[in-house]
Amino acid sequence: MSGCALIKGHRVFSVLRSYSLEHECGDELLPLLLAHRDVVNRILEELWSHIEWKKRKLPGKKQWRLLPKYKVDIHSGEYKKELRDSLLQEWPYAAHWVDSVIKTAYSIFKTWRKNYVKGERKRRRPTAKRLFARAKQTLIKLEGEKLRVTIKPDEYVYLELSKRYFSLPGEVSSAGLGEPIITPEKVHLPVHYGDGNQGGNPSVAWDFNLLSLDGYSPETGWVRIDTKKLASVHISSFEKRRSVQRKASRSKKAKRVLSKYSNRERNRARKHQLEIARVIQSVAGVVGLEELKKQGMHTRSRIWNRRISRSDWRGIAKILEGRMGEAGVKELDPYGSSSYCSRCGWHNRDLNGVDVFVCGGCGLRIDRQLNAAINLYMRLRFGYTVKRVGGKKRVQLKMEGASQREWWDTVVLPSLLGGCVLTGAERKTPDELVRGLYDALKPKLYYAYDRYADAYLRTPT
Ligand SMILES: [Zn+2]
Repeated sequence: MSGCALIKGHRVFSVLRSYSLEHECGDELLPLLLAHRDVVNRILEELWSHIEWKKRKLPGKKQWRLLPKYKVDIHSGEYKKELRDSLLQEWPYAAHWVDSVIKTAYSIFKTWRKNYVKGERKRRRPTAKRLFARAKQTLIKLEGEKLRVTIKPDEYVYLELSKRYFSLPGEVSSAGLGEPIITPEKVHLPVHYGDGNQGGNPSVAWDFNLLSLDGYSPETGWVRIDTKKLASVHISSFEKRRSVQRKASRSKKAKRVLSKYSNRERNRARKHQLEIARVIQSVAGVVGLEELKKQGMHTRSRIWNRRISRSDWRGIAKILEGRMGEAGVKELDPYGSSSYCSRCGWHNRDLNGVDVFVCGGCGLRIDRQLNAAINLYMRLRFGYTVKRVGGKKRVQLKMEGASQREWWDTVVLPSLLGGCVLTGAERKTPDELVRGLYDALKPKLYYAYDRYADAYLRTPT
């Protein structure tokens, strides 16, 4: 929130640092690296062959230029799949290397194209000259002081890390490593350093809204990421675009202005998405997210909020999947997660967009986003089935006979209150404690965008 000072020494660090280490496995790696480079160049050739040169006049100038257009959609899933399949036919190494080859080739091509359009490159096909390969997370494993790299299924090269001058993530786990870049002489190893709470790697489920992102796990309690700044990126862009939108159908200039605004909005939002993903990753080992396909269809009051935040959510989910792998990100059906009481399952049919969830069954009063995050967490932790009862959808937790309310009172409640019991007074009913929760509770961890640091930082609550 604005006006909040930073806690000294509490900037959230899940910093990614990259270290370079020499290794002595050059001979073993060389055939793979050569094959990698050859295939990168093969893809570059193929991408090049899809270019159609279109003559275009430079805006505001008298010169003409040839700009590259693609004859086929090289970014479509279909095209990439076909490309991957064809490359795999003569590929003797582990299949995941092919993904790395494709990624590298596309990125070289993209850089060339960008620079060419700016006038900084010649109209000549880019080629890969240096020997290197970026290893996907699925291809590496940290084994003690060694980094195991899969060359072929069941064929490994072990890179010695014992001479390093940096520390590895606390527990020996590959999850703390980014994708290393391997050359014949060196390995460039990115290492994530968390802010200390990655040790237990708790699973945290997240509920996404326009103004905040709320996470819950018994280990972390309630975590809130303030996303107002991200929302304002969209809102201010929306206002600006609206003012030129009407003219856009007639004027070319207005059209250009419009696309400039859209690009700027996308770039700014992207920066926030990356930062938010970093915070999510620094808090949790496994992340539970609302399944995108199924989201936003059922709660009318949230549709507008959803629409504006959907692309951000998708962006963040993609970044997380890229960094943590599919095993690190679990998609959860969000159906009803905000309208059912996380403690007793009572259905609140009339949410009306208020901030506080009041349960008509057990008396729970709680922040509605926190309630949704707890519901999602339980789906993540216990698993669930989706049923249709009388034409209505129902998500059922697989708690196997255990009582949801008991679990809530023994696990959730202390995690929210920080382990302390509220008062010494005798409790009159078992529901007494939860009636006052809304007023007593604040997020345990609160992150917000800080303009000076240009990052999401932890602020006191
Ligand atoms: Zn209830």
